[in-house]
Amino acid sequence: MNAPLSQQHLKQTHIARDEMASRLRKIVEGEVLFDAASRGRYATDASIYQIDPVGVLVPRSFGDVTAAIDLCREMRVPLVGRGGGTSQCGQTVGAALVIDNSKHLNQVVDLDLDAMTVTVEPGIVLDHLNAWLKPHGVWFPVDVSTAAQCTIGGMAGNNSCGSRSIAYGNMVHNVTAIDAVLADGTQARFAAESSMAGAPTRIQNIIAGLRSIAAREHDEIAAHVPAVLRRVGGYNLDIYHPQNPRPYTDDGSVNLAHLLVGSEGTLAYSRRLVLKLSPLPRSKALGVVNFPTFYQAMDMTQHIVKLGPCAVELVDSTMIELARGNPAFRPVIDKALIGSPEAILLVEFAGESQQEQLARLAQLVELMADLGLPGSVVEMPDAGPQKELWEVRKAGLNIMMSMRGDGKPVSFIEDCAVPLEHLAEYTSQLTEVFTRYGTRGTWYAHASVGTLHVRPILDMRRDGAQKMRAIAEEAGALVRRYKGAFSGEHGDGLVRSEWVGWQFGPRLTHAFEEIKDLFDPDGLMNPGKIVRCEKMDKVETFRFKPSYQVIPLQPALDWSSWDVQIDPVSERVSAPGTGGDAARGLAKAVEMCNNNGHCRKFDAGTMCPSYRITRDEQHLTRGRANTLRLALSGQLGPDALASEAVRDAMDLCVSCKGCKRDCPTGVDMARMKIEFLNQWRKRHGLTLKDRLIATMPQWAPWAARLPWLFNLRNAMPMLAKLSEKHLGISAKRKLPAWRRDTFVRKAPDHPAEQADVVLFADTFNNYFESENAHAALQVLTAAGYKVHVARAVPGSPQENRPLCCGRTYLSAGLVDKARAEARRTLDALRPFITRGIPVVGLEPSCLLSLRDEFLVMGLGDEAQALAKQSYLFEEFLARELKADRLKLDLKPLPQKRALLHGHCHQKAFDAVKPVQQVLALIPELKVELVESSCCGMAGSFGYDASHYEASMKMAELSLLPALREADANTLLVADGTSCRHQIADGLEEHSGRRAEHVAIILRRALE
Ligand SMILES: Cc1cc2nc3c(=O)[nH]c(=O)nc-3n(C[C@H](O)[C@H](O)[C@H](O)COP(=O)(O)OP(=O)(O)OC[C@H]3O[C@@H](n4cnc5c(N)ncnc54)[C@H](O)[C@@H]3O)c2cc1C
Ligand code: SF4
Ligand code: SF4
Repeated sequence: MNAPLSQQHLKQTHIARDEMASRLRKIVEGEVLFDAASRGRYATDASIYQIDPVGVLVPRSFGDVTAAIDLCREMRVPLVGRGGGTSQCGQTVGAALVIDNSKHLNQVVDLDLDAMTVTVEPGIVLDHLNAWLKPHGVWFPVDVSTAAQCTIGGMAGNNSCGSRSIAYGNMVHNVTAIDAVLADGTQARFAAESSMAGAPTRIQNIIAGLRSIAAREHDEIAAHVPAVLRRVGGYNLDIYHPQNPRPYTDDGSVNLAHLLVGSEGTLAYSRRLVLKLSPLPRSKALGVVNFPTFYQAMDMTQHIVKLGPCAVELVDSTMIELARGNPAFRPVIDKALIGSPEAILLVEFAGESQQEQLARLAQLVELMADLGLPGSVVEMPDAGPQKELWEVRKAGLNIMMSMRGDGKPVSFIEDCAVPLEHLAEYTSQLTEVFTRYGTRGTWYAHASVGTLHVRPILDMRRDGAQKMRAIAEEAGALVRRYKGAFSGEHGDGLVRSEWVGWQFGPRLTHAFEEIKDLFDPDGLMNPGKIVRCEKMDKVETFRFKPSYQVIPLQPALDWSSWDVQIDPVSERVSAPGTGGDAARGLAKAVEMCNNNGHCRKFDAGTMCPSYRITRDEQHLTRGRANTLRLALSGQLGPDALASEAVRDAMDLCVSCKGCKRDCPTGVDMARMKIEFLNQWRKRHGLTLKDRLIATMPQWAPWAARLPWLFNLRNAMPMLAKLSEKHLGISAKRKLPAWRRDTFVRKAPDHPAEQADVVLFADTFNNYFESENAHAALQVLTAAGYKVHVARAVPGSPQENRPLCCGRTYLSAGLVDKARAEARRTLDALRPFITRGIPVVGLEPSCLLSLRDEFLVMGLGDEAQALAKQSYLFEEFLARELKADRLKLDLKPLPQKRALLHGHCHQKAFDAVKPVQQVLALIPELKVELVESSCCGMAGSFGYDASHYEASMKMAELSLLPALREADANTLLVADGTSCRHQIADGLEEHSGRRAEHVAIILRRALE
């Protein structure tokens, strides 16, 4: 047996990096990522740690994995399996070869409904599995909050547990077998011990060794393994002498897969997992109990669980207030409240019959009255409101993490589990501990099983490490007093392995080391986790260590609102620009990404189209934020912000602003891309294509005078090919056609003084699709408004050139030019801003920049005022409708159905609903929304030859397939210019159908 790897050896493995990369490339089909930026993207997970891995392998097949394990063994390089990388304790962080299973090793291998099992590869995401299982009436019920992005391999690694664990148990209760490979290459199915008689000798020896350790430590197991459902620390040696109140197996026998569950990849690599399925419950009822004090909520949980709920989840007053501060969550949470409770418990009952669940809900109401809280339960028998409220609960941690400044809620005692009868005492004493250390924590989550999440706010760049240790020690004393588990959900990783000895005592800790050595004598599998670990507060391994520094930088946009500090107790936020960020807020905005991996989700919502088509960490919001953070803090070398590594990470970002809305901490990558492009352009200049596109508003008047000349490229395939060769514009695309009859020049309108609406015609609707602007004018006029068309200030330079929002310049990072265009527009709109006249526009990406980028270009208070009175055409009509002022006489159309695709920026600004509302004004028209992400055209992105394929893949994800189903009786509606072009290109060979702007549809309904 070789000695386990020393730290010195781990350092030496870095020397072997180049050799390993080149050898791996020869033996695997998958991606071998050893460059600094790729390694940086895998150096972190959702914990506070960061360790540079040796390299990354994204295997294409299990053959790649075994080849890599063989090479690791030969070169004595450690390895770490990885799924979504959402671990909170640093389980996936290490100086090792990281094997990312999530891209290719994610298939369902077998479904056996008789045995109620499913066999899967480790990289499959829980939500994807459950979507696949749904038609069969079954599900995998370990419903963790990160279900949209975490993988089954990672869930097994961490012994994850969901909100409904009181009914279904943890992973250990729901995995029946694991096909695994050891570091020495031995492969075996770990399952019921009785079924393993034919396993290789090496495995038989391990089993014999385990049995003898378990027999020897029988009394220690009884004395030191906490008898709570939620205990996920150490190895599950108690499979031989169960302490968990829920049996691991139906017949009390030993299943060796259960030892691998929770072992955090330190014993073996899981190739396939056999999972136990449960029938999908047919009906559910939810009761929300409102408590006047937090203590009562904690104290009464023990009585509530006796009613047999499948979940009892806590939301405290801080979380309630944070949720109420979010416009999307406020109406949902308000429906669950009676007055101003200090805490609420979500109590869910589930089963076959609805009547039965309603009866149990009635019992809950009765119980609360008996306990002295009559009238405290909001009853939610219907699925819709239940689902909405669960979404708010699931978003809990993320809502909390949106705190700005260097102090962040830190996960290290976040899932201690204590028996329910001590929950109230435990929580109030721990709250006192926080106060003593000048911080506070927000409590939420799994009251049913005594696992409450709480994260004290600490600043890891300053005194965070010291406070973390002090608080952990006091929390540990409380957990010990109440006979609880220090790690009740999230595992050990780097932050809690040192507590394994504290929890289980020296004998069991030694037994765990023996187990590790039985499986992995060379210490190659994810070393430093569970056994033989470092201290939790080793600052060199922190992502934000005291030595962390940001390179001084003057960003092009104003990021000062991120450059703040927050007082953890009073929550007072310092003034913008006072946070001490050398990059004036840009770095702090980037650092908001806490790596929770929410951007890896695939369900409805926009974020993140480039990840959806590539499944690459590099093309993910998280990957981009990490790349920018490393660049801004000098970890990718000097001047890295304008480097190829950052360019490559940003290349497929379509600036859809999906993350601005969907990222729980508000990472706005579209805005960050403008900063990157600005830096890139300063160093590398502009390509001819970028210059042409960016400056289009300048030369467009000429093109409109000579449309035949500028349209030649579309008419002559030869010219299209030349434009691809010399400009990089895809020959497969037709460019928007120029025309003489532009809108702004001749549009009939009212004089400025009489106007009650100003129409802002953007470059695209003015030059290419002027019929949209005319239609909008006609609809507004028919509704009785006196419309003035916005034009440049008479006598100003270029007075005849139409106004522009600056979008094309921003897309090229030319912030100064965009600012100049914005100033021109502000000058022209000044009289209307002063009079409070609404400014209405048609193209989402243009008009909405008045409410977004205009506010961060140093344009002063006038820009703020303009933002408040700028509306998309449909938003304005919906506003008037709501105020009961809209007088539009619309007639039925021949088509009775409309399929609507929302532009990404409309989605980011919650501006899709108004389109639905105004279309619904047309009698007999049924409006349906296409559940789509970005169309893939995204301004000029899809015209770029190098992006053509990615662009079409994005469109094919859901948009084009949905539109191909549309018959002739269906109108296709899309307000974005580029969306309409993408749809036209995508449907050209199918039906030749085209999408229209909502203004055109409404105008037609006037006739
Ligand atoms: C906001 C947030 C909420 C969370 N909520 C919950 C919750 O409700 N319940 C809960 O239990 N956890 C929760 N977690 C923690 C985390 O999401 C879960 O533990 C999740 O199951 C990890 O899955 P993953 O795919 O991201 O695994 P990863 O983090 O990638 O890996 C987890 C472990 O498994 C190992 N591993 C991965 N693949 C293999 C393999 N093929 N073979 C061997 N080992 C492997 C890794 O080495 C690592 O040790 C939460 C985390 C966050 C950020
Ligand atoms: S970008 Fe946002 S959603 Fe993605 S990991 Fe970071 S914080 Fe989470
Ligand atoms: S702007 Fe869109 S493509 Fe870019 S990171 Fe955000 S969600 Fe992804």
